[in-house]
Amino acid sequence: MQVPLLDLKAQYATIKDEVLTAVSEVLESQRCIGGPKVAELEGKIAAVSDCKFAVGTSSGTDAILNSLMSLDIGSGDEVITTPFTFFSTVGCIARTGAKPVFVDIDPQTFNINAELVASAVTEKTKAIMPVHLFGQMADMDPIMEVANKHNLAVIEDAAQSITSTYKGKKAGSIGTVGCFSFFPSKNLGGIGDGGCVVTNDEQLYNRLFVMRNHGSKPKYYHKYVGGNFRLDPLQAAALLVKLPHLNDWSEARRRNAAYYDKKFEGTVVQTPYISPDCVTIYNQYCVRVPRRDELLAHLKENNIGCEVYYPVPMHLQECFRNLGYKEGDMPQAEKAAKEVMAIPIYPELTDEMKDCVVDTILTFLG
Ligand SMILES: *Cc1c(COP(=O)(O)O)cnc(C)c1O
Repeated sequence: MQVPLLDLKAQYATIKDEVLTAVSEVLESQRCIGGPKVAELEGKIAAVSDCKFAVGTSSGTDAILNSLMSLDIGSGDEVITTPFTFFSTVGCIARTGAKPVFVDIDPQTFNINAELVASAVTEKTKAIMPVHLFGQMADMDPIMEVANKHNLAVIEDAAQSITSTYKGKKAGSIGTVGCFSFFPSKNLGGIGDGGCVVTNDEQLYNRLFVMRNHGSKPKYYHKYVGGNFRLDPLQAAALLVKLPHLNDWSEARRRNAAYYDKKFEGTVVQTPYISPDCVTIYNQYCVRVPRRDELLAHLKENNIGCEVYYPVPMHLQECFRNLGYKEGDMPQAEKAAKEVMAIPIYPELTDEMKDCVVDTILTFLG
């Protein structure tokens, strides 16, 4: 039996007619930049995130970059973040000229170890960027405490965690800004690239809005150096069709996770730890296993989709060698990079498919 890591065709089949109608409306209108679909989506993303404002962006990466630029973070500044994340988080910090400062992860949640954040603060620190990895939010209370004490901005990289919660609060609503990605493999994925920034700060919202369009206001008068960070209305149209399904899809992922949790109980497979403070949306279901690389090869041979998120922690990436980190500096992130792997969790999985994944893993591990 073939079980892909993600099957977007299965999802598309359930909403195809609506997506085609919505996309066609945009094409017929020939409002190819901005327009009512983008504004409508922004309102709805703000609402589901319990935030006052939202600014659609061209990608999750540009949501993060726009946030950093709008907060005037750049050369000479430091931003505290996690080494165990997708490249974007750290790439954006570096692109502004600021210095990424890493804090190791909590080995249970894989998120930044909030207890260690305070010790990384210097006079140069401008912001903290926690990442809500795999669908579960970071431990925000201690992070906000440090941020408030030192007057730091908090940029939530919520690319994998739209609508997940921490102590009942939505991802993106706790920090200064929250950044979402609509990359097709995220829980709310477009039909191409897209992203969004949410905030409750009206002044910052105005800046994000202007920065998204080359920092110009009015047109051709540039107060700031912004960029082209605009969300494509075709993406907004497709996302408006998908958004009403988001909770059901996340619920189906949680049901799949509970199914796996039970099947792996008492085995060598360590299932994801979800803090009692959090409701996760399981953008990934990552297990920690012995002989990870051998198992990965075995699953691929047996047509079962799996992937390592992420094989090289950011402090050991070649492009960040200038930061001066070395192997051993972030032991928990380095260990996780060697031991974790994601298995299929997407909503349309059948029990038969999940059983096939579980059986193939357990038979191999003995
Ligand atoms: C996907 C992702 C991003 C970037 O989003 P894009 O839309 O692909 O640019 C940033 N951070 C994390 C943690 C992600 O998973």
